[in-house]
Amino acid sequence: MGLTAITRRAFTALGTLCFPPHCAACREATEPGTHLCAACAESVQRIEPPFCERCSQQFDGAITQAFTCSNCAERDVHFECAVAAYRSHGVVRDFIHAFKYNGQRHLRRPLAEWLAKSLDDPRISSRPFDALVPVPLHHIRFREREFNQAAELAELVSQRCGIPVLHALKRTRYTSTQTKLDRAERMENLRGAFRVRHNARVKERHLVLVDDVFTTGSTVEECSRVLLHAGAASVRVITVARG
Ligand SMILES: [Zn+2]
Ligand SMILES: [Zn+2]
Repeated sequence: MGLTAITRRAFTALGTLCFPPHCAACREATEPGTHLCAACAESVQRIEPPFCERCSQQFDGAITQAFTCSNCAERDVHFECAVAAYRSHGVVRDFIHAFKYNGQRHLRRPLAEWLAKSLDDPRISSRPFDALVPVPLHHIRFREREFNQAAELAELVSQRCGIPVLHALKRTRYTSTQTKLDRAERMENLRGAFRVRHNARVKERHLVLVDDVFTTGSTVEECSRVLLHAGAASVRVITVARG
């Protein structure tokens, strides 16, 4: 065991002593090793079939065979699939927001647990992949936020599944916040925002791109496009939640 592992264990042990386990959402007491109380855990919404094979958009209706939604059918999508186990709603949405914008870095653990659930989806589990690639932050935003949420989550999932993290992408252009833009405007805004790092070995590699949330999919789409142009064999996407 390396020194960092020993230090980490010591801190974890210390943490349990000083902070008895409580629900990260409502502060109620919880069982050790869990982040949410039973009530909050139950409020979390899974993405249930039927959903689009490609982007996981849930469909309210009775479709029994695999289908692709009209959004994916109309455009040239570069990622094979974007998988999330949860809907961006309630506790899940609140945690992502608090993690990303309020610096509540401790939430990375429950978020990574939710993210790791997407590895069980057959679209990911049925075929091996070579690396987890986090969506990068621009260095200005990195300085503001002090961490890249996608990279933190990718690291934790990597520890669990044993597949390495590859920091293959660089965000070369600072883009203003995208929240008020529609899908076409977002795509336009992101053109040329990402580049493959010169020393990243993506050629003929099967990659899984990691981000916190899938909203319109413009960010992961642009990242996938860039990775495939650099020679990646395939790009699939996992996110904690889907909007
Ligand atoms: Zn709770
Ligand atoms: Zn779709």
